[in-house]
Amino acid sequence: MDKFELIKETIKKYDGEDLRFMEVCGTHTAAISENGIPNLLSPKIHLISGPGCPVCVTVTAVIDRLCELSLTDSTTVLTFGDLIRVKGSNMSLSDARAHGGSVEMLYSPMDAIKMAKRNPEINYVFAAIGFETTTPVYSMVLEETIRQDIHNLKLLTSLKTMPEVIRWVCKNTTNIDGFLAPGHVSVITGSKLFEKLSEETGLPFVVAGFEGAGLLTAVYALMKMKGHSGIKNLYKSVVTENGNEEARKAVDKYFEPCDASWRGMGLIPGSGMRLKKEYLEYDAGSYGLDEDHMPPGCSCARVLTGEISPDECPLFGKKCTPEDAHGACMVSTEGSCYNYFVSGRRKR
Ligand code: SF4
Repeated sequence: MDKFELIKETIKKYDGEDLRFMEVCGTHTAAISENGIPNLLSPKIHLISGPGCPVCVTVTAVIDRLCELSLTDSTTVLTFGDLIRVKGSNMSLSDARAHGGSVEMLYSPMDAIKMAKRNPEINYVFAAIGFETTTPVYSMVLEETIRQDIHNLKLLTSLKTMPEVIRWVCKNTTNIDGFLAPGHVSVITGSKLFEKLSEETGLPFVVAGFEGAGLLTAVYALMKMKGHSGIKNLYKSVVTENGNEEARKAVDKYFEPCDASWRGMGLIPGSGMRLKKEYLEYDAGSYGLDEDHMPPGCSCARVLTGEISPDECPLFGKKCTPEDAHGACMVSTEGSCYNYFVSGRRKR
């Protein structure tokens, strides 16, 4: 039997105490579903989907502000796909559009520059959400905006960083046995960042890619490391120890760390990035957007922190489906509820 077959068999036949490993990367959540990983695990191994989907962790105050802006004269909100369907306190951007709001979907961030140049009479607001992976893209947009002397493009930022939310999860959820470190975020931050987190929390971290075999090997590595701190990088072809220093430098030029509000988790000190004071003329009013009113009956807060599995929400698959999403976690293709719904992943 080759090594990978042995890994597969060990994971499937595992019969020790229950193990709970959390993934904090939306792309991992999607890849786990797409590759049918839960069906390849022993019922004693639980993969928990944590706060790794940027759309899912965006608070309603941000959506509300974007809706308000889209309904303002001569203003167009620019956004990437999924955010458009997430409900704020009253409506989503898609609802705002149905009420006459101006909202456009972007396929490439640089399209924002093109649009702003083409239509100088319109004020464009780019919904800048995301983690360490996406913030360098917004830096690039800003760099171009300044270089090309554009004054009708601003960012509404709701940018998050991983270390503090992982600390938050560890403090508030006691039964996690290890983390699948966020794959794309690690490309930028480097694997070293997780060494520190591992020492602090006493939990193992494994950096993995998005292929089925790699994910299974990562689960196996976490099983072996259970009960000890440590970091294993199984994605060395893409993730280095120090990450992408150029990208971090570009971010540091325009952004600084700040406290940030996370859906269902409240304000987590030092867990976000905002524009530096000297670039505030490019900010569309991102300060103080902390309020968070989840739709009635929605359990996203408990899902995002791993307290319950998506299918334990009473609305799952009934009042809340991908076609008619009630909560944020059912909207995004990286959301926990969406992935549980489309793949039939269930609490076991
Ligand atoms: S099923 Fe829908 S309402 Fe329930 S937690 Fe998930 S997204 Fe929220």
